[in-house]
Amino acid sequence: MPLSRREIVQLASAIEERRRALAEEIRADLARMRAGPYTQAAGATPDSGDEAVADLLSDLGEAETSRDVAELRALEAAHRRLADGGYGVCIDCGGDVGVERLRAEPAAPRCIDCQRRHEKTYRA
Ligand SMILES: [Zn+2]
Repeated sequence: MPLSRREIVQLASAIEERRRALAEEIRADLARMRAGPYTQAAGATPDSGDEAVADLLSDLGEAETSRDVAELRALEAAHRRLADGGYGVCIDCGGDVGVERLRAEPAAPRCIDCQRRHEKTYRA
């Protein structure tokens, strides 16, 4: 069953909250790791708008693959799917991801079957 409007609103707010908290955390980590341009930014209240998260991710670059950054990328992708109406639709099979799964993991891009297949493929 596709997500109801109400479910989408709830999940979207969970994504937003997590996305902002995580962006903050990553910024603070960066500030600790690098004495430099980021040190100043850490004291200020960062803009948590869309561009700010996108800028942060682009600053981090492709090389940064910590768990937090991977999660933020997943949240950012979910945020985009919410905007373009693809949220809750499995990116592999086009089926429903399922509301229970999304409640547990709001950024989940795949249904459980495709996720298992994906993990098998990439772990091998
Ligand atoms: Zn699927």
